[in-house]
Amino acid sequence: APHGPHQTGLYSRKNDIYDESRLTLMSDLREALHNNQTQLYYQPKTSLATGKVVGVEALIRWHHPERGWVPPIDFVPMAEKTGVIKHLTRWVVDQAMNDLKALHEIDPELTISVNISARDLSSPELIGLFETRIKRYQLKAEQVIIELTETAAMDDPHRGLKALNELTAIGLKLSIDDFGAGYSSLSYLKKLPASEIKLDRTLLQDIESSDSARMIVETAISMGQGLGYRVVAEGIETEKSARLLESLGAEMLQGYWICPPKSLEDLKAWLDVERQVPGRGDVYSSAKR
Ligand code: C2E
Ligand code: MG
Ligand code: MG
Ligand code: MG
Repeated sequence: APHGPHQTGLYSRKNDIYDESRLTLMSDLREALHNNQTQLYYQPKTSLATGKVVGVEALIRWHHPERGWVPPIDFVPMAEKTGVIKHLTRWVVDQAMNDLKALHEIDPELTISVNISARDLSSPELIGLFETRIKRYQLKAEQVIIELTETAAMDDPHRGLKALNELTAIGLKLSIDDFGAGYSSLSYLKKLPASEIKLDRTLLQDIESSDSARMIVETAISMGQGLGYRVVAEGIETEKSARLLESLGAEMLQGYWICPPKSLEDLKAWLDVERQVPGRGDVYSSAKR
C-alpha cells in the first residue's frame, strides 16, 4: 500500500496496550513530540453561503523514522489509553496557536479547530494551556474551536462537563465531532456547551445513491440547526455530495473535494490562490446557476 500522510489505519482494532511494539510506539511518540518530529496538517472548512474558507482544522501527522507515516488512528487512541495524550495535546495546542498567528497574516478572521480527547478534560492544565497560548500569540479565544468526538466516553462526565463549561466561558467554541457515528443520547448532547456539530463521514457516505441516507442527513441537519448548532459536513469527496449537502441545508463543508489536509506552508500557498481567485466557492455558485 502506498504510504502517505493520508493513509488510514489497518491495525487499529489490535489495541492491546501491553503489546510490546505498541509500548515502543508510545515511547517513540513521546520522543517525537519532544523533538518536534510531529507536524500539524491543516484542512480548510468552507462556508457554503459565501464559498469562503472560514477556518482550518489541525490534524496531527507523524513520520516515524523506521515505520514511515503512522496514521492518527494508529496512535491517538493508544495515546489516550496510555496517558501520552496529555503530551500530544500540549504539543498540538502550542503548535496550532502559533500557526494560527501565521495564518492571520493571510486572513485575520480565520478560526482554528483543534481535536482534543475526552481524557484531556480531566487534566487541570488544559484550560491554562489554551489561556497562555491565546495570550502569548495575541489571539481571540472565539477563534479557537475545540473538537470533541461525540462518542468520547468521559471518565467523569460531571467533571468533563465542568471543564467544557470553563473552556467556553473564556470564549473558546466547542464542536461535536463525528456526529451521528455514535449512539450518544440527544439529551446528553444538549447539555454540552457546543455551538457546532460535524456530521460524520459515515453518515454521509451513501447520500448520492440512497433516499433514506439523504433523509437521515436532512433530519440530522434540521435537528442540529433547530438546537442552535452550526452544521458542518465532513469528508466531502465529490461535487455531487457537496451540492447535495447544500440542498439539505448544511452550512459548512470540509473534505478532499475542497482541499485535503496540507502542511502549513502548502496551505498558505493554497489560501493565497483561493483568496485571489476564489476557487471552490465560485465553482459552486456557478455550478448552481
Ligand atoms: P476527525 O477529527 O474526524 O478528522 C477528520 C479526518 O477525516 C481526518 O483524518 C482527515 O484527514 C479525514 N478527511 C478529511 N477529508 C476527508 C475526505 O474527503 N475523505 C476522507 N475519506 N477522509 C477525509 P486523520 O487526519 O487521519 O485523523 C483521524 C482522526 O484522528 C481524527 O478524526 C481525530 O479524531 C484524530 N486526530 C487527528 N489529529 C488529532 C490531534 O491532533 N489530536 C487528537 N486528539 N486527535 C486527532
Ligand atoms: Mg475533528
Ligand atoms: Mg476528532
Ligand atoms: Mg470527525
